[in-house]
Amino acid sequence: MKYVIALLLWLPLTLSGAQSVVKGTTKILTFSKIPADATLTFGNKSIPILQHPSDTSKRIALIPVNYRSHPGLKTVRITYTGGQKTVELNITQGNYTSETITVASSKVTPNKTQRERTTREYHDAMKIYGTFTKKRYWHQPFIAPMDSHITSQFGTARMYNNTLKSYHSGTDFRAAMRTPIHATNDGVVVIAKDRYYAGNSIVIDHGEGIYSCYYHLSALHVKKGDIVKQGAVIGLSGRSGRVTGPHLHYAMMVHGTQVDPLKFHQAINHLFEYVPQAQ
Ligand SMILES: [Zn+2]
Repeated sequence: MKYVIALLLWLPLTLSGAQSVVKGTTKILTFSKIPADATLTFGNKSIPILQHPSDTSKRIALIPVNYRSHPGLKTVRITYTGGQKTVELNITQGNYTSETITVASSKVTPNKTQRERTTREYHDAMKIYGTFTKKRYWHQPFIAPMDSHITSQFGTARMYNNTLKSYHSGTDFRAAMRTPIHATNDGVVVIAKDRYYAGNSIVIDHGEGIYSCYYHLSALHVKKGDIVKQGAVIGLSGRSGRVTGPHLHYAMMVHGTQVDPLKFHQAINHLFEYVPQAQ
């Protein structure tokens, strides 16, 4: 009997059949007890098991579900010495909408030099996002990068001049030119430069596979390698890169996958709401 209880204890707390998750968001699994040598995989991705931020008796796994995932059941596998457990995720479509955007054609159809530049910038960024920094910098809940209205949600299907189809990979905040933009948590600046699509960009590594991105800025107040504190002004809003007007595009990468940044904040911040019971 004791053995059975021990086994049940480390199963995800909310486990009861398949757990629902909208594509483009992050599922956080919480484990009350899990063998020290347990490893977790989702699809062909190995997902690290992390300390719970407010409850030392628990551990967590952040499972990013790609926006381009097909709705349906997908399995999370937890392997450890002597066994294996699975958790079924039911990936759902969500309520994403679509919109049409018109921008200068030179930015829709890049020339050869521009294509080489965007390819290089893409690969450079993906290499960074695929880097797992063991140190945790996010010791408190994430905050908004600025106090403003959201003008475009993450995940909106987009058509540029009816030629280029994509989806909105971040959340847009309304921002007049040169509005201060804040780091949403502590971290290390890993990108601070001008890029073709994103314009003046800042990317912060928060550790443990979590990165936040701030695009289209008019001024960069930090440089690569800087350690920033949550709330620090890292730059000023602008209209650099592929945009129709000034705004902040805020994005997040988790274990190399783009996820809805504000939904990620919501999910991870919830873990800080745990209050240990007095003994
Ligand atoms: Zn945007």
